[in-house]
Amino acid sequence: MTASVVLLTRALRVHDHPALATATRAGTTVPLFVVDDAVRDAGFVTPNRATFLAGALAGLRADLQDRGGDLVVRRGDPVARTVELARQLGATTVHATADVTAFAHRRQDALAEACREAGLELVLHPGVSVVEPGSVRPGGGDHYKVFTPFFRAWTDAPRRRRATTPDAVALPDGIDPGELPTAHSLAPGPVSPHLPEPGERAALAAVDAWVALGLAGYDDGHDDLAGDRTSRLSPYLHFGCLSPLELEHRATGHVGAEPFLRQLCWRDFYHQVTAAFGAIGHCDYRPRGERHWVDDDDAFAAWTEGRTGYPIVDAGMRQLRDEGWMHNRARLLTASFLVKDLGIDWRRGAAHFLQWLVDGDLAQNSANWQWVAGTGNDTRPNRIFNPIRQAERFDPDGAYVRRWVPELDDVAAKVVHKPWALGVDGLTEHGYPPPIVDHHAAAADVRAGRPPAGVDQDHLPGLG
Ligand code: FAD
Repeated sequence: MTASVVLLTRALRVHDHPALATATRAGTTVPLFVVDDAVRDAGFVTPNRATFLAGALAGLRADLQDRGGDLVVRRGDPVARTVELARQLGATTVHATADVTAFAHRRQDALAEACREAGLELVLHPGVSVVEPGSVRPGGGDHYKVFTPFFRAWTDAPRRRRATTPDAVALPDGIDPGELPTAHSLAPGPVSPHLPEPGERAALAAVDAWVALGLAGYDDGHDDLAGDRTSRLSPYLHFGCLSPLELEHRATGHVGAEPFLRQLCWRDFYHQVTAAFGAIGHCDYRPRGERHWVDDDDAFAAWTEGRTGYPIVDAGMRQLRDEGWMHNRARLLTASFLVKDLGIDWRRGAAHFLQWLVDGDLAQNSANWQWVAGTGNDTRPNRIFNPIRQAERFDPDGAYVRRWVPELDDVAAKVVHKPWALGVDGLTEHGYPPPIVDHHAAAADVRAGRPPAGVDQDHLPGLG
């Protein structure tokens, strides 16, 4: 029997957990979570995600206790705490789940070095992606830069066997499990009122419900803003309460699986991009030369607070604050509006999303923002989404807008997406602002490759 430490970072589950399964098969196991302030300082833990994380950790502790083990919690530097604990217990091996960001790579490198010095074996396991970054590569390159060939290779790639859920977790005697962190101690601050239920049990129940009731309608419904017909599994995937391989397994063979798994593949695609390009969060993946960004704090504040005067944009931004989540179509429209209509740097928008999203994920968030900004993978730099046409297509009767922008509750469907048609008095009466920018002028600038003008109050649609 050997003793080992499993350092848990974000694979917060007992099902399909290769690191945990390997350790528990081999002998006594210390599942360890280290509260690391550097993770919060790097912006990875914000109040919404802290709330979810605290709940997920409590659930994991209960599930490990049910198996005779426990979740051991410590504070400080995860590398130092892991090695310290391993030495104290006479453990021979440290297991961890490999991750993709530059931050995670630095932690893994430091852990490898510390384990070497301490004479411990470090084993890194898969579990964050369906197909691990680097296991499919294009000829002559280290990662795929374009989605479609990646999707083909990903579809054909062999899958690892899903790890067995341990029936029993044997914890070494006499170990102090430590106190679970509260959400407030992880990251104090305002929390969205309607966050999803955290943890693995909620994740698995959500998958069951999704496969039984939602998946078949995914192809037709995934862009229906008011219908809310996507899985909402992203927070569980982000925190690893749900194994992406398990999700693939459960969805496969059901009607709707194909388009759904293609979306899940985008997640793997951006994992392998991030693993290869660690600067994804702050540097353009495909630099397009010197860009002129508009530095307008008032316009940025109007965007973050959902009062741009474009109802579909405002609805998305208000959903983000209320739920810590936003529909993918709304993410696309709100991001495009910030970068293309207002001409504001994608990094400011990405930081705001990361602040609020409960699924906020450096790889997925940055790569998607770069896609919108025209600096990422598969991008058309001069693309701009028309917020009115998109709204009329994906929220045809305005139900999504009315849900989030109650000021427009009683406005007729034909003007709900362009309320400036009510005139200045009509807008004032409804307490809704005029548009802060003229989309058509912004679109003309973007298509002509001109630097964005930003907010110009003289050219408001239908008002100027
Ligand atoms: P579903 O439609 O049910 O899709 C199933 C799963 O596929 C998702 O849970 C997700 O893991 C994956 N997926 C779907 N669309 C994408 C995509 N475009 N890129 C990568 N993976 C995808 N997703 C995050 O998980 N974290 C983020 O921080 C994040 N930031 C984003 C920022 C912008 C500007 C945009 C345009 C998209 C962002 N996305 C992000 C991707 C996508 O919007 C969300 O994954 C999706 O809306 C989550 O809802 P769902 O689980 O119901 O998705």
